[in-house]
Amino acid sequence: MNLTVIGTGYVGLVSGTCFAEMGNRVTCIDVDEKKIKGLKEGIIPIYEPGLEAMVKRNIEGETLHFSTDLGEHLKKCDIAFIAVGTPMGDDGSADLQYVLQVAKEIGQHMQHSLIIVDKSTVPVGTADKVRQAIQNELEKRKLNIEFHVVSNPEFLKEGDAISDFMKPDRVVVGSDDESATKKMRTLYSPFFRSSMDRLITMDVRSAEMTKYVANAMLATKISFMNEVANICELVGADVNKVRIGIGSDSRIGYSFIYPGSGYGGSCFPKDVKALKRTAQEHGYTADLISAVEDVNDRQKMVIAKKVVDRFGADLTGKTFAIWGLAFKPQTDDMREAPAIYIIKDLVERGAKVQAYDPKAMDEAQHFYLKDLPAVSYYHSKYETLQGADAMILLTEWKEFRSPDFEELKQQLNTPIVFDGRNQYNDQMMQDLGFEYFQIGKK
Ligand code: NAD
Repeated sequence: MNLTVIGTGYVGLVSGTCFAEMGNRVTCIDVDEKKIKGLKEGIIPIYEPGLEAMVKRNIEGETLHFSTDLGEHLKKCDIAFIAVGTPMGDDGSADLQYVLQVAKEIGQHMQHSLIIVDKSTVPVGTADKVRQAIQNELEKRKLNIEFHVVSNPEFLKEGDAISDFMKPDRVVVGSDDESATKKMRTLYSPFFRSSMDRLITMDVRSAEMTKYVANAMLATKISFMNEVANICELVGADVNKVRIGIGSDSRIGYSFIYPGSGYGGSCFPKDVKALKRTAQEHGYTADLISAVEDVNDRQKMVIAKKVVDRFGADLTGKTFAIWGLAFKPQTDDMREAPAIYIIKDLVERGAKVQAYDPKAMDEAQHFYLKDLPAVSYYHSKYETLQGADAMILLTEWKEFRSPDFEELKQQLNTPIVFDGRNQYNDQMMQDLGFEYFQIGKK
């Protein structure tokens, strides 16, 4: 098929590249000229394992193209995907300005019957707004062209995006038109060679809702476990053991019940807020969802609080080595990362920070922590330790899992580790002579 993917960010670039890999002819469109120029030369603006090789292969194979010219590419296209950002608006709702701008542009340029697919995460009712925006433009042009708006929310995870897209747990297609559903089924069939059961079709509104509910459910699991961790500390229990004890129940399961420094990233914080806001707009107070958010806001600061309990509220003259800045491993994404909040708090209290992350240092240095001269960046995890009073682990990158503990001890001024992701065995840390602080165990 000829596909146009509008918005070449995490979702647009990964989706477009994976569709191209399956033999479709894909053009990824973006308003960011610099990004498109770079992509044409094979320069990938994000870090995502496996993506660069796949993009280059499909550029060479002429299945993947990049452009800023939507009008030109819409002419040859069967399906147009909207994959632009839906950031958090001032009132917590999803800001639809980019989605509706794209819808308007589609209406201004389309010349033949089209399927328009919402891949962005959008609140219930957005497909109707997209349809209306396109229709308005067609009316201005005095054209009567048939089109269908389909909801196809994306569930990929940053860091595993390629494998999530190529081997999805499920693909949700919300459509009110049989022929559009059929076309989407054909497009996705190569991704489900063994069984098409994982392509789930439903009405548009339920599909829009499904994405928010999936993210809110995952965020709830995280906040629930963090709440449990905080109670464990108070009562003298070990959350690491409790986690194993409950996960063994097949109704609960082991996934997503790790205690830590709270969730971040581009999706959970904004999607949880947007779902709460949608409920509010319909006169419903979503208490559980509000609590998920409140617990997460508090959890982001638990490690900073442990540092203050150990070193005092005034951290002047203290230096901390930070291992990990990204909101999770395998990505350079720092949006809403707990590291931002924790580092800012330490610096405000007078501390110096020596940071290392395998991929996110550019993001930190040039964007999220750019106004903080007290933060310096190093090329390796061990370099951050020199002269530091403690090491604070904030992202569970694999390279932090089994460090040279002797070197860690020798380089630090005092052998103190604050572990925001419970990566180490506390008995082992004590035997090695560390003062070891983790989440959910005193
Ligand atoms: P992003 O910010 O990385 O990328 C959005 C891109 O859209 C940018 O490159 C921007 O320049 C471009 N854009 C904006 N207006 C445009 C226009 N009028 N025409 C063409 N391009 C335009 O966003 P993202 O992380 O890819 O997220 C996109 C959507 O997918 C959001 O709704 C998000 O919630 C959802 N989502 C994201 C993830 C994720 O892990 N990042 C996962 C699932 C769903």
